[in-house]
Amino acid sequence: MKSLSPKKPIVKKIIHVDMDCFYAAVEMRDFPEYRDIPLAVGGDGPRSVLCTCNYIARQFGVRSAMSAIKAKQLCPELKIVHGRMAVYKEVSDHIREIFSRYTDLIEPLSLDEAYLDVSNTTHCQGSATLIAEQIRTDIFNELNLTASAGIAPNKFIAKIASDENKPNGQCVIPPDKVASFVEELPLRKIPGIGPKTFQKLQQAGFSTCHDVRASSIAKLTPIVGKFAVSLYQKAHGIDNRELEVSRQRKSLAIETTLAVDIYTEKECFAVIKQLLPKLLARLNKVSNLKIVRQGIKLKFTDFNQTTVEQQSLSPDQQTYMTLLSKAHTRANKNGMQRGIRLVGLTLGFAEPCVESKVMAKQMMLPSL
Ligand SMILES: [Mg+2]
Repeated sequence: MKSLSPKKPIVKKIIHVDMDCFYAAVEMRDFPEYRDIPLAVGGDGPRSVLCTCNYIARQFGVRSAMSAIKAKQLCPELKIVHGRMAVYKEVSDHIREIFSRYTDLIEPLSLDEAYLDVSNTTHCQGSATLIAEQIRTDIFNELNLTASAGIAPNKFIAKIASDENKPNGQCVIPPDKVASFVEELPLRKIPGIGPKTFQKLQQAGFSTCHDVRASSIAKLTPIVGKFAVSLYQKAHGIDNRELEVSRQRKSLAIETTLAVDIYTEKECFAVIKQLLPKLLARLNKVSNLKIVRQGIKLKFTDFNQTTVEQQSLSPDQQTYMTLLSKAHTRANKNGMQRGIRLVGLTLGFAEPCVESKVMAKQMMLPSL
């Protein structure tokens, strides 16, 4: 009798996308005078900590999470600016929207970092490498910011890989290269190994994954406790964690940045008429969600923006027109008629998803 062939393991395609020095990059984009100087985002008070810094500052040894005082000692020229969370959040939403063009399986880790599972997508002939390139191109074209990416069969390797060719680069570790990639990996590069754990491991003679592979869980346990199992697996390139995806959306948005500023309500309405079918097409993909709100967003030439929302059970053109009238009156500021550079439509759904991890991370950010 013919034996059944063993089931072929499904190889995943995970992309880890990480923006390059995100907050600092946004500041450099928006303020040209910051582009060629060492720059950090954070508080500059005596007890403040830096959120991030640009690559010029990094040449001086300045790092994120470093105290402002220490950073200034290393680099007296360092310019520290206060963060503009609202702007970063908006950019982050746009990046998230770009991700969603390629897959629904997105696990955000923070405002500027996410895992994407593209195992089953058909974009770019299913090539994760090409998808990562395309995502980075979209981010650059639409936001004028650079991102790096790691492409691998699991989250752990993808995350480490995204750091390999930073900034503005990507690194692919195909399944057959995982073993050799991990072999020489210094243990301190493994997420979860902080300076203290690394020191303990080093004292016990472990400094690379190779050392861990040559050992055993039993020998690692007295040093790192429960983490031994995960460490042993990681040293072999194994990470079976699924993406933690919150499937429940809280909203759906579509927006367009206009090539030329527009001024009249009529012009805005023409844009809305173009956007609405696209919004409906996307809505079809996320069926089963109960609509509770619809809204409109306008961004003005001075980059301020306004949103007007109202309760609604279905996306309705007439309602968007009413919302537009309201939003459009706000273009007038102190008697000056501002142009409109972006028009967006939103839908809000019942039972908002809890993106608890992202919230937790944001709350942990040092106060600015
Ligand atoms: Mg980053």
